Amino acid sequence: MTTFYEFQRQFPDDEACLKRIMVERYGGTELDCPKCGAHGKFYRLTRDRAYLCQHCKHHIYPCVGTPMERSRTPVHKWFYAMFLFTNTRHGVSAKELQRQLGVTYKTAWRMAHEIRKFMADVDGETPLGGVVEADETLVGGKVKGKGRGYRENKTTVFGMIERGGDLMAKVVPDVKRRTLEPIIRENVEPGSTVHTDELRSYLSLDRAGYEHETVNHGAGEYVREDCHVNAVEGFWARLKLSIRGTHVHVSGKHLQKYVKEFEYRYNRRKRPERMFGDLVAHL
Ligand SMILES: [Zn+2]
Repeated sequence: MTTFYEFQRQFPDDEACLKRIMVERYGGTELDCPKCGAHGKFYRLTRDRAYLCQHCKHHIYPCVGTPMERSRTPVHKWFYAMFLFTNTRHGVSAKELQRQLGVTYKTAWRMAHEIRKFMADVDGETPLGGVVEADETLVGGKVKGKGRGYRENKTTVFGMIERGGDLMAKVVPDVKRRTLEPIIRENVEPGSTVHTDELRSYLSLDRAGYEHETVNHGAGEYVREDCHVNAVEGFWARLKLSIRGTHVHVSGKHLQKYVKEFEYRYNRRKRPERMFGDLVAHL
């Protein structure tokens, strides 16, 4: 689903959203009761976000275990917020959510973070293989420091893209070999070809069981034959542009969640119809 029209048609109100969660989690509102075991209808309790077994009055709370579990914000607003997050290229600020949903800034901010965490969970990590680009970058900029002027406040992010396939990226404490190499070993199938720049941390990848090729950025070289990290660099460029444009600044403490949000969308760039659908299916 990629249009607001389609969203509104499928999810016009709370009822439609709750019903959809029941379908995703229990196959509908007619099921074998987890408590009494009898097959039957579950009726909607209007005051609670709950469904009730026709036989034993057992309650099912479909929102338990979802990002909206502890929230009093209507389910429909949560669905709409998730729709916004999956239909943007540059992310959604809390201010924007506040405007669109008519909730307080605090609520909007919390919702945004819950949705980012959920996007990270749903995206998961699939092993990369074939030709994989690996690269590291600094995100952030100068912030006001104590005393005189500004201090640098940059956070290191490491990322890998299987050529033509998935991306995985994460915030890392540094770019030392003992930090980066385990992430590569954990996420890239042995025997794959790994393209990197000439950072020393990558020098032992050959011994780790990979075909390792480097491109020498220092010498002004960006593509050597087929060896480049252009896809990761493209992702960095968009990430930084979007953070500046949408959020102005993201602290290192929260950056991981934003990176994962962009990873989720990147990994569905060729299947826009699954952007929103994958979230709903995992509720
Ligand atoms: Zn029952």
